[in-house]
Amino acid sequence: MADHDRDVHLRPPAVDRVLGWPAISALIEAHGRPLVLQAARDELAFLRERADGCTDEGITHSIHARVDAVVAPSLRKVFNLTGTVLHTNLGRAPLPPEAIEAMVQVASGASNLEYDLGTGKRGDRDDHVEALLCRLTGAQAATVVNNNAAAVLLTLNSLALRREVIVSRGELIEIGGAFRLPDIMARAGCKLHEVGTTNRTHLHDFENAMGVKTALVLKAHASNYNIQGFTAEADPRELGALCQERGVPFVVDLGSGTLVDLARFGLPHEPTPAQTIASGADLVTFSGDKLLGGPQAGIIVGRASLVAVIKKNPMKRAMRCDKLTIAALGAVLRLYANPERLIQHIPVLRLLARPPTEIEALAHRVLPLLSRYLGARAQVDVVPVQSQIGSGSLPVDLLASFAVRIKPAGPKKGSGSWLDQMAGEFRKLPVPVIGRIADGAFLLDLRCLEDEAGFLALLTPSQG
Ligand SMILES: *Cc1c(COP(=O)(O)O)cnc(C)c1O
Repeated sequence: MADHDRDVHLRPPAVDRVLGWPAISALIEAHGRPLVLQAARDELAFLRERADGCTDEGITHSIHARVDAVVAPSLRKVFNLTGTVLHTNLGRAPLPPEAIEAMVQVASGASNLEYDLGTGKRGDRDDHVEALLCRLTGAQAATVVNNNAAAVLLTLNSLALRREVIVSRGELIEIGGAFRLPDIMARAGCKLHEVGTTNRTHLHDFENAMGVKTALVLKAHASNYNIQGFTAEADPRELGALCQERGVPFVVDLGSGTLVDLARFGLPHEPTPAQTIASGADLVTFSGDKLLGGPQAGIIVGRASLVAVIKKNPMKRAMRCDKLTIAALGAVLRLYANPERLIQHIPVLRLLARPPTEIEALAHRVLPLLSRYLGARAQVDVVPVQSQIGSGSLPVDLLASFAVRIKPAGPKKGSGSWLDQMAGEFRKLPVPVIGRIADGAFLLDLRCLEDEAGFLALLTPSQG
């Protein structure tokens, strides 16, 4: 950088001149002319507007920044140290290496996605996961779509168009964002027939509601809330039997749909799709990227005749999974074949099962570097905290964990904005670190930190 580059001009130079500067030519070489030209024009227009003087060095720097802002990927890897294992905003389940390898294999070229290698004829993309899903759930048939919201929408639209769906008032759920059962029902073209009350619904409520207009009975799993006190719900087994007697399909939206018994992690028992089918559900829907630990997907399993109707719905075509999802889901489901090695191989299960003592030891290992990184500004220690599963899975059940707690070193005044600033600073790291603010501190729950070296490298000033 020559000295005159720092001379202050009152008016910005012409765009053609700027494009000829060596640093800008190098930028054109790297990113192409249209992008750099646009960035230069925008910057010069900004400077003319501001009319505040500028330097060649400053202009070069700003054009670089504008180009960087356009070419830098928006979707990036982050460290999820929020303490919420299945964080919807942070992408839910991390995938096992087997699933990533399976995606890479099909992503880079052609595959037999819808091609039967035996007959040389057209195949069905569901074929790559259907047998696995049937084996793991005891269902006769299965199909997959983009996510569980789509699975519910498609099921309702396929089986209950212009007819009635009976749902307990205690289960008219809203799940984060825009998934409200009554709205989904309306968009699916079904009539909602509510029965019972918010806290109590009995078998006879369903019995009385069933009639010629009834298309199906829907039971939605209370994923993200818990009704306590004077409550009652119809026993799912009895409800299933009643539906069977009346010839009405019984559909259960399980939400998370874990394929393993969570009691193994010291968590309360959650019904699995296999148990739900065994106890009388005709169809069960659940997510691929919640407790199952796979890619985003909506899985529908159950009675073959009903799955066949769902598969024939033209809306299925609009909700189908892409080859990457099918590849990843197949790989994750294959891991479930070996129950012995399951917990180590499926990251979500591994993170849920992680012993607090291991998390505590990790916290003590990263503490010195964090402390040095923050210097005199902050007071840093290790504290016990509670992680949650997230994505509406077992909302009231927490997992004992440990966090590094970061508090302002000086007087507590204005610590709210200090904490916001600290959280912002961690989000600006080359790999953003997302923690949470609670109890007057910025907390980094280390339950989900597996790349310890990568995290520590962020806190170590790079050489040179
Ligand atoms: C999470 C959830 C859904 C939505 O599933 P997505 O895979 O996020 O679309 C639907 N129903 C229940 C009960 C859920 O918990």
